[in-house]
This record gives sequence, structure tokens and C-alpha cells, in this order.
Amino acid sequence: MKITARHNTDVLVIGAGASGLRAALAAAEAGAAVILANKGPLARSGITLTAAGGMQAPLHPDDSAAIFCDDIIACGYGLADGDLVRALAEDAADRVLETERYGVNFVRDAAGGYTLSQFPGQSRPRNLFVRGGGIGLAAALAKACRSNPRIQIMDDFFITGLVRNTGGAAAGAVGLDLRNGELTLLAARAVIMATGGCQWLWATNDCPADATGDGIVYAYRAGAELVDMEMALFYPSVLVWPPSLKGAFVHYEFLAPDALDGNIYDNAGQPVLPKPLPVRDQAMRLLARAIKDGRGGPHGGLLWYVGDSPKGAAAVAAKLDILQYNYIRAHGVDPATDRVEVAPGAHYLMGGIHIDPDGRTTVAGLFAAPECAGNFDGANRLAGNGLTATQVFGARAGLAASRWAAENGGAGPDPAAAEAETARIAARLDRGSSGTDIAALRDRLRAAVQQHAGVGRDAAGLTRLAQLARETQAELAAARVPDAGVFNQRLVELLELENMAEIAGLVAGCALARAETRGHHIRDDFPARDDANWLRHTLAKRTAGGPLFGAKPLRD
Ligand SMILES: Cc1cc2nc3c(=O)[nH]c(=O)nc-3n(C[C@H](O)[C@H](O)[C@H](O)COP(=O)(O)OP(=O)(O)OC[C@H]3O[C@@H](n4cnc5c(N)ncnc54)[C@H](O)[C@@H]3O)c2cc1C
Repeated sequence: MKITARHNTDVLVIGAGASGLRAALAAAEAGAAVILANKGPLARSGITLTAAGGMQAPLHPDDSAAIFCDDIIACGYGLADGDLVRALAEDAADRVLETERYGVNFVRDAAGGYTLSQFPGQSRPRNLFVRGGGIGLAAALAKACRSNPRIQIMDDFFITGLVRNTGGAAAGAVGLDLRNGELTLLAARAVIMATGGCQWLWATNDCPADATGDGIVYAYRAGAELVDMEMALFYPSVLVWPPSLKGAFVHYEFLAPDALDGNIYDNAGQPVLPKPLPVRDQAMRLLARAIKDGRGGPHGGLLWYVGDSPKGAAAVAAKLDILQYNYIRAHGVDPATDRVEVAPGAHYLMGGIHIDPDGRTTVAGLFAAPECAGNFDGANRLAGNGLTATQVFGARAGLAASRWAAENGGAGPDPAAAEAETARIAARLDRGSSGTDIAALRDRLRAAVQQHAGVGRDAAGLTRLAQLARETQAELAAARVPDAGVFNQRLVELLELENMAEIAGLVAGCALARAETRGHHIRDDFPARDDANWLRHTLAKRTAGGPLFGAKPLRD
């Protein structure tokens, strides 16, 4: 297998969720030629599509960027970089409203004003809702990208790794064009990583199966520093039963007194959540504790139920007439009246590739934009900040990358680096196959991550996980799949699992390093928060001797 195609561009954006789409638009509008590469079909893959569509912006007359900023820092237990939080809070209103220019519609009240809801941790009403949820947002941005002549879209295109120039700067990527089976070199003056999170690593999660953390690994392999990889957010109420709906999510926020005033109940019918509702990590801990104490239902979860809401059936039906709940209804379960079992599940990654406010990573020419980037949330995230961050940091990264491309372009990819990446992929293909059971290895890894790096962790379990991750990497090194030509899904699965195994090791290493409990990171062997030692990021960096784990100061 050889590189059979090459494309040159100013800015390569990898990943076309809300972050990558926004980054591509910003770079193109600044005059750059852009390639937008995505492993699935455009606007039909990635985490953005599953989003409920809440976006935070300080638009209420009593709100301000400064109050928003304070809320983010408090909710994240002080672990976010101050400069990232300020950028997020200060740009939020402009970037969120600007999405209307691209065709996004927000839910409005009878007078035509924006409907602003107030979720736990928000000291002012601040959540707008996109009509059509994440699909509405992605579809509008994708349409804008399609009609921008400077943006070349390459979807069904799986990036396998970054390539740098001889000076060490990011200079493009190698990818597999799934539609024709061609290995392709995308040479670029700047690269933006926008590949989303890695929550598919956890057996219980509410994300699509393509959230395998590819871009985080590629940036790490290229030398970028990662921070806070242990900081996975576990959403309190992810469906674990019925089986056909495992991985869908239902809002615990909708159980608030001013919404549906429902609750999540244990097997004795006792409500688990206090009112007013706590922020996510606190709600998640209450649920996890109840399940651990044997108060769960027959399928291991707790009952999410709004059928007896004092608001009445009509209000419940109206509130649940949105994407997530219509999806559940389509599976023969009525969330307005039926009981479903929920448990905490991996939902969001707060750590990731360390960026500055313009999305710069620690590798020259490489930028990153939300969910693969961090840390602008801390140890917990406010509802609605995920999507707002895609627009704020997507736009910032797009602009900064276009400037970098204009000022620093020139040295193309090091041919030796491109050849090495090609050889790495070609070595995975064989006439037959090694017989390695990729699916079994994947299930074993995901179960171990769930067990040892889920809610409640300790040194012994994390050490076992790190060992299993290494073993999985070794087993995969010998794995071969047939050269199937077009849409070689087995090759994609193998490469994704390699990425997942490497990330599992990084999550375990960072979780071991953070010897304290903070937000969603719960160390059973270090149950207290330790500001004296751990008001710092954990750091993961690649060295010749393997991963280096340590700490990195927060930026003010
Ligand atoms: C169930 C759920 C509901 C949510 N609801 C909300 C909400 O209401 N409000 C909110 O603020 N946040 C919400 N979030 C979080 C928010 O949706 C995400 O943080 C955000 O959409 C991430 O966008 P992204 O563009 O960074 O990543 P993604 O949307 O995941 O996009 C990444 C893209 O990169 C592609 N990609 C990955 N690897 C490769 C590769 N190797 N080669 C090429 N392409 C690749 C993927 O296919 C994908 O299309 C929710 C999350 C979940 C799971």
C-alpha cells in the first residue's frame, strides 16, 4: 500500500463536528484554502449530533461575562485555565448568536425573545436551545461549509496520523479515503485537530461509537502535551435499560422543580436526588452511591420517572417533544410515562490536547478545538458549555491557523515521515487476517476502563488498567486485517482500537498521578480534595522512553 493521492491546502481541519465546522468557516472567511476531513459522512457523525442543543451565553440583563466566568471556575473546582475560561465567557454571546448567520434557529418565547433556562451551577438563566438540537447546529454549519468555495470537504475519510516537516512543525496528515480505498497525503501549512472526545472507551457512555479519541492520540504522538486526561465527565442519567436504548440519555436537569419536578428513584421508591438539583458530579455521585449500596433496579440502574409529575401530562409531553425523547419513543418506550433505568455514563472529556486561547498546542502549526482540547472546564462542566466552546474555540483556532499558514507556510511534510506513516498502515494489511478478534479485545478494554477508570478509582485498579492497555497494544501490534479495498471497516476498527488502547494507558497514568478527589475524578484511596498539591493539571507527554506523566501549572 502506497500513498496514491496528494492534496495541498493552507489549513487542514480534521473532524467535522461543531468545532471543526466552525474552525473551517473561520479559516476560510479569513482567506485560507481549507480541507475539512471527517471519518464519517458530513453532519452525520460525531458527538455533536447527539447533543440536546443547549448553548450558554450571558444574554440575561442581570448576567455578564464576569459572572459567567466565575460560574465556570466554581463548577470546575478551580481546575480550568483562567485565560481559556475568560475567552470562553467573553466570546460566548457573540459566537452563539453568530450561528444564526449560518442558519441556526433558537427556541424563542411568545414575544420572540430567546428562551433562557437556568441549569444547576448557573447563577443566571443562560441556556439557549438550538431547534433540532446538535443536528440542527451541525446541519446549518455544514451547509455553510458546503457553500464556501474555499472549503474542500473530504468525508468518509479516516485520518491515520499527523505528519510534520523537518523542522518539527505540523505539516499535514495521512488518511484513508474510505470511498476508494486510497491512502492520501493531505499537505497543509497548519492543522486543526477537532476530532472530539474518547468516551467510547467506557462501556457505559452516551456517545457515538466514533468517539475513539483518534486526534488526541495523533497529537500526542506528534509531541503535543495533553492535560487532565483523567477528567472524564460522567453524566448522571444514561440509559442502561431497556437494552435497545442503552447509551441514550435523559436529562436529570429536567427533574428540576421549575421543569418536570420528577426524580430518580431507588428500588424502594425513594427519590435519590435532592432539590434544588446539584451540579453534575454531585448528582452523579449520589446515583453511583445508591447503585453501589444495592439500591438499584433489576438491571443495575435507578428508575428515571416523570409519569407522576405535578406539572401534568400535557406539560410533560410538551417538554419531552424533542429529539432525544422522540428517539426513545421510536424504540417503543414512552419517556413521559414509562420507567427507564439510568446510571452514570461517560459523556464528555474535560482534559485533552492543551491549548492556549487561540487553540495553539505545544506543537508548532498544530491547533486544537473543543472536545479533543482542554482544559477550559476544570473537573466538572456546566450544562451548555460544550457547544458554546465549539463555537468560541473553533472560531479562534480557525483564525489563528489561517494566520499561521499565511506567515509560516513553506516547508511541506517530511517525505520520510509520510512514508513511515504509510508503512505503518500498510503493515496492518494482509491477504488473509491474523485471526485477532478485534471485537473481543475492544470489549475487554472497554469493560476494564469502565471498572478501573469509572466512578471510583484506586491505585491498584488503575495500575491493572495501565497493564491491560499495554498488553492490548502488544496484541494489536501483531493483528492483521484483509486488504478489503473500499470501506475497509475492519482496518478502521483496528486503528481505532489501537488509539483507544493508547488513550486508556494515558487516562490510567493521569488518574494515577492525580492523588486526590476532585469533581468527576473520584479516588477511593485519596478521598479528599488536595488544593495544596493538585490545583494543577496532570500532564501526559510522549518521550523516547514512553509516556511521561506529571503536573503542569494552571494559566491565570
Ligand atoms: C448525549 C450528549 C448530549 C450533549 N448535549 C449537549 C448540550 O445540549 N449542550 C452542550 O453544550 N453540550 C452537549 N454535549 C457535549 C457536546 O455535544 C460536545 O462537546 C460537542 O458537540 C463536541 O463537538 P466536537 O466538534 O468537538 O466533536 P464531535 O462532534 O465529536 O466531532 C468530531 C468529528 O471528528 C471526526 N473524527 C474523529 N476521528 C477522526 C479521524 N481519525 N479522521 C477523521 N475524522 C475524525 C468524527 O467523526 C466527528 O465527526 C452533549 C454530549 C452528549 C454525548
